[in-house]
Amino acid sequence: MNNKEIIDLDSKHIMQTYGRQPIALTHGKRAVVWDADGKEYLDFFAGIAVNALGQSHPKLIETIKKQAEKLIHVSNVYFTEEQVKLAKKLSEITIFDKVFFANSGAEANEGAIKLARKYTGRGEIISTNNSFHGRTLATVTATGQEKYKKPFKPLPAGFKHVDFGDSKAIANAITNDTAAVLIEAIQGEGGVIVPPENYLKEVEAICRENNVLLILDEVQTGFGRTGEMFAYELFAVKPDIITIAKVFGGGYPIGGFLATDEVASAFDFGDHGSTFGGNPLGCAVAMTVIETLISEKLVENSKTVGNYLKDKFKLLKEKYDFIKDVRGYGLFLAIELNQECDYMVDKMREKGFLINATGKNSLRFAPPLIITKEQVDKMVIALNEVFSEV
Ligand SMILES: *Cc1c(COP(=O)(O)O)cnc(C)c1O
Repeated sequence: MNNKEIIDLDSKHIMQTYGRQPIALTHGKRAVVWDADGKEYLDFFAGIAVNALGQSHPKLIETIKKQAEKLIHVSNVYFTEEQVKLAKKLSEITIFDKVFFANSGAEANEGAIKLARKYTGRGEIISTNNSFHGRTLATVTATGQEKYKKPFKPLPAGFKHVDFGDSKAIANAITNDTAAVLIEAIQGEGGVIVPPENYLKEVEAICRENNVLLILDEVQTGFGRTGEMFAYELFAVKPDIITIAKVFGGGYPIGGFLATDEVASAFDFGDHGSTFGGNPLGCAVAMTVIETLISEKLVENSKTVGNYLKDKFKLLKEKYDFIKDVRGYGLFLAIELNQECDYMVDKMREKGFLINATGKNSLRFAPPLIITKEQVDKMVIALNEVFSEV
């Protein structure tokens, strides 16, 4: 099938909820993907900041083949070696002791909210305006963007929003019924918004003083995206719970939330569950993602190539005065313009580069963590061409 045939079938049989780009992807190799008309693209989007190892990484292929020959799914009624090994690995690379495995970022946040409520015996969750935490009813309520929740009222009770970047607003919002502050270290869908330098440390201190849990939503920032393994390291804070997904499975849907033994002990038998969460295939894949991030030094690559790309963006900012801001860490970067930029995404795609627009007027760059400086150079040349036509 070609692009048009696929797109026509989609409009007939798929609920039309996505503002998709008009191409169908068929296959890929590392940071390169091809569409159904045979056109080649360099991918700076990575399936919404997911495919850290790019497409068809040999280690992922080997793991998926081997694991599919043994077990794909058994449910959490039984133990599996793949699940406990991954859990142990997560405790080694983080400051946490225990994990609950889910299937997505939204589910991870749902579970974290339940754990915080059970642990504290309180109901209220404070999150920030312009945030994104998922599309389920609770997580879309925590999400600080009206457009995502307006048609779906009534929304669950117990959620409050304050401005991102304003720690005093959090202190003022806390009441005797506050269970947790749920926050992204860097707002992803909101436009790669980086908070003021000491913000997260202040939020952490406020949470401690008031005996409120800090849940850091690391769904987009986790596993090397920002140039550190986790964003809590970048900002030198110790959250009580983190939620993970996106890069975690390298494209296979797996998520989870991590907590200390103390907080995790609030969950008793039967308190939470998932049919698919932590299935052996997902766990084997996630283990390979983590091992490959480490063995191929991809967190370091995120930092060095990310800095290299950011420097190129800063040069573009000096050249074009319609560029308002360049921001982000590692391979999690944005260029904010003083105008709408959806058409630039189209132009870049026509030139063979996948990027996306996010927030109001921002272009987001979240390539696979295997991306090279040479590939960055190619993309920047094309971006400069697009900018020069503005
Ligand atoms: C993508 C994202 C989510 C939602 O993850 P899904 O897997 O789409 O449910 C939650 N929080 C953040 C910060 C995200 O970027």
